[in-house]
Amino acid sequence: MTTETETDTAAMAALLERQRHAFLAEGAPSQAQRCDRLSRLHATVLAHRADLARAISEDFTHRSRHETDILELVVTVQAIDYLKRNLRRFMRPERRHVALTYRAGRAWVEYQPKGVVGVMAPWNYPLVLVLIPLATALAAGNRAMLKPSELTPRTSALLCHMLAEAFPEDEVAVILGGPEVGAAFSRLPFDHLLFTGSTSVGRKVMQAAAENLVPLTLELGGKSPAIIARGQVNRRTMEGLTFGKLSNGGQTCVAPDYALVHRDDLDAFAAAYDQTVRRFYPAGPTSPDYTAIINERHVARLDGLLEDARQKGAQVTPVGYRPESAASRPQTIAPVLVLGAGDDCAVMQDEIFGPILPVRTYETMNEVIAFVNARPRPLALYYFGERDADCEKLLAQTTSGNVCINATMMHVAQDDLPFGGIGPSGMGAYHGIEGFRAMSHAKGVFAQGRWNLSRMLHAPFGRLVDLAAR
Ligand code: NAD
Repeated sequence: MTTETETDTAAMAALLERQRHAFLAEGAPSQAQRCDRLSRLHATVLAHRADLARAISEDFTHRSRHETDILELVVTVQAIDYLKRNLRRFMRPERRHVALTYRAGRAWVEYQPKGVVGVMAPWNYPLVLVLIPLATALAAGNRAMLKPSELTPRTSALLCHMLAEAFPEDEVAVILGGPEVGAAFSRLPFDHLLFTGSTSVGRKVMQAAAENLVPLTLELGGKSPAIIARGQVNRRTMEGLTFGKLSNGGQTCVAPDYALVHRDDLDAFAAAYDQTVRRFYPAGPTSPDYTAIINERHVARLDGLLEDARQKGAQVTPVGYRPESAASRPQTIAPVLVLGAGDDCAVMQDEIFGPILPVRTYETMNEVIAFVNARPRPLALYYFGERDADCEKLLAQTTSGNVCINATMMHVAQDDLPFGGIGPSGMGAYHGIEGFRAMSHAKGVFAQGRWNLSRMLHAPFGRLVDLAAR
């Protein structure tokens, strides 16, 4: 008897074979063919713009279509345009140095498509985290199989439908299913696999990929700190921080997870955060721009984090709304500050992924650096302050996937910057030329010239000795 997963596995393996066969039959696609694929992707995203925003909002129970436009659609379309505009440069073979001994040979690197790329995505940005990896794979000349999240079923089904309209199955295919399908998907012998999701599942995916020596890009999570320099509680800081913390209801891999605030600024910070949240979301958690939590399990998880913090003596303070207006939508958690949470609190240990902001205080920048370095390397690090000696020191002495100064999340929208984590927050990067290269094979080629000095390297070696002795 075959189980459902076995059937899925066989069907997925057959699909991968069909894509690989089509890839080999076509050979490396030209720049024009790649542009055509990117254009089809661009067109289908724009054609389904309203449906996508609706599907995402239904999957979350509530997310503003403006937020989907700003954080997913615009970023996706911009990334596709960037890839198209830069494709010729990315694809160009690169001349490399040849040592005197090997002259007059020539050396160069060709960036060749790997073949079939697998893409596994989470639920929190169900569009951009599927489509930018896909655009990158297509730009690099690959075919792609995509496995979106089961927690956004309407969006995943719509992606399946719209991509099937735009691409034959042997070019781009979408596989629907949950963790079991994900596990089977990660065991397939892809030519490259890009996984975006949690660190714990990332570990399993890496183990599965190792069986077939599939090269991996892992885009994982973690706790990204926001460091507010002394005396820098101002409008720019608070707006930048609030945008990153509360967009998508805080369910963002690069959200500032916790804030490090100078001890003298704590009161001003708490008051300014409250005011800024009120300005962003005037009706508190029922504001139209405030996104709900993806499901009841995650609501319970976030409630559990707050209960744990309270029990361990931390102060949990609602911000940005009058408590009487808190009777909110289903699956919605109001923004809160958590003050005085120690290292033993779960909010200081687990990735929060919700509208909860723990704040810790510091006295010196050395203390901040030690604090960050004592913890797993984060996906992003945020610094609010002048580009001064402290900032330079922080840049030089801490390691994080990316850094963003005086803003949050904006680094992700920079098409020309690599985006990725380090250590438990990820491995490898995409976006920009780094993404193109991650999904390409850098094939080094050496071509011997008609006249060449390297003949001296052939036996009999006595000639070299004679030459050296002269
Ligand atoms: P997840 O790891 O639970 O799921 C990600 C994908 O893996 C889904 O498609 C899921 O179906 C699949 N999956 C689940 N269990 C699996 C298994 N055992 N084997 C193989 N596949 C499996 O993550 P999530 O809850 O959907 O997303 C939230 C996490 O993703 C957070 O940790 C967040 O930080 C991270 N994230 C990272 C980035 C980034 O770019 N670095 C972006 C967004 C989210």
